Amino acid sequence: MTTAAAGSPRTYQVRTYGCQMNVHDSERISGLLEDAGYVRAAEADEQPDVVVFNTCAVRENADNRLYGNLGHLRPVKAKHPGMQIAVGGCLAQKDRGDIVRKAPWVDVVFGTHNIGSLPALLDRARHNAAAEVEILESLEVFPSTLPTRRESTYAGWVSISVGCNNTCTFCIVPSLRGKEKDRRPGDILSEVRALVDSGVLEVTLLGQNVNSYGVEFGDRYAFGKLLRACGDIDGLERVRFTSPHPKDFTDDVIAAMAETPNVCHSLHMPLQSGSDDVLRAMRRSYRSERYLGIIEKVRAAMPDAAITTDIIVGFPGETEADFARTLDVVREARFSSAFTFQYSKRPGTPAATMDGQLPKQVVQERYERLIACVEEITWAENKKLVGETVEVLVAVGEGRKDERTGRMSGRARDGRLVHFATGDLAGRIRPGDIVHTTVTYAAPHHLNADGAPLAHRRTRAGDAAEAGQVPRTPGVLLGLPTIGAPAVPPAPVGGCAAP
Ligand code: SF4
Repeated sequence: MTTAAAGSPRTYQVRTYGCQMNVHDSERISGLLEDAGYVRAAEADEQPDVVVFNTCAVRENADNRLYGNLGHLRPVKAKHPGMQIAVGGCLAQKDRGDIVRKAPWVDVVFGTHNIGSLPALLDRARHNAAAEVEILESLEVFPSTLPTRRESTYAGWVSISVGCNNTCTFCIVPSLRGKEKDRRPGDILSEVRALVDSGVLEVTLLGQNVNSYGVEFGDRYAFGKLLRACGDIDGLERVRFTSPHPKDFTDDVIAAMAETPNVCHSLHMPLQSGSDDVLRAMRRSYRSERYLGIIEKVRAAMPDAAITTDIIVGFPGETEADFARTLDVVREARFSSAFTFQYSKRPGTPAATMDGQLPKQVVQERYERLIACVEEITWAENKKLVGETVEVLVAVGEGRKDERTGRMSGRARDGRLVHFATGDLAGRIRPGDIVHTTVTYAAPHHLNADGAPLAHRRTRAGDAAEAGQVPRTPGVLLGLPTIGAPAVPPAPVGGCAAP
């Protein structure tokens, strides 16, 4: 069914919007299509046989952007008989049949709960010459059990849970992705091992709220145990996770981070606001004191920990005093980086209809002050690392200026971005290799290391990168959680991060 008229396999392209969870879902979409016989279209191919939009409803104007892009494809499709367009992700879950009403040249609309149906829906739409819209209200198959074409040889995402039981008033995620569904620890660890067996060195455990992992099977310490179990996997060099929630953060997780050598000392913990009144209005049930208390404990256990966050400025009702409190917390917390967002209404969220929406210029002005404050701190924190040796996992696409400067780039263990000179090793270091080097310069958002590397370790991930291979994890059913109760695929990390 997937062979083009000319006898060659049908080509596909996936266009991804939104957060890491969507990026990981797109890896699954690619894996599914390749299992069904499709091949990835070349970058420059302007007429793939199938174009899949994996959409995000979290960002402002997401729908305008989608319909604009669909409009651009209409004449392309008209000239390319047999071309199919599919729309999935959060916006598809939200707009459903409206998508084919507004853009009748779309062939398939699939929801966040039934990614696995995409190849069948494409086949059916082609066979029936009619649009297929399939949106399920509950999870059809736990997303991590679908075949996955990984984008990286050295780092992989692994979902530990999907959905969210919280009801933050700025967030559309719970209504689109549903209640939290936890994956069994054994299944998670099997997937991690499969990745490590294919050469992956770094794994990021993904969940909308990793600290509530275990809520479904009644173990509130499950996440700390999972981190410790990752510590027993030979060959796994770095474990990260995102996102934790201050409300559910327990001390055992800090102990597990500190005591498990391969768990990185980096913590991305969304603050959103430093004002307790705003946190209350956001329905985020921790207060700034608790937030700062967690940071204090993390720093006591891991003095080298890099702590990053998400902050929303200009939430409805935010006063100048509330905003000043956010600046206070930023100064106290000494973040190594912060993702900052200007609040803007998201239709369908409770905050969109709250009183006290702030004028754009007020939000803009506070936003600029926040960025200045954050950068002053991140720069000062980064400067402390000048002269220190860092271990860098060499990455692809992290250094936009690398070609011009002759450097390569990657992440230190604490998550900081490092651009490093390659010295005599130029041409021999591959993405996925490990380099030790000394920091010579600090900027607010990155570090430079301009001396020759102190050490270079070739890795299996580097070998795979050189050979142009990417890991694939098969769609084996590793012991699925029971399907039936309403549940959900991954919700965006940016769902927590981005208003
Ligand atoms: S912001 Fe994060 S924790 Fe809050 S409802 Fe959205 S996904 Fe859940």
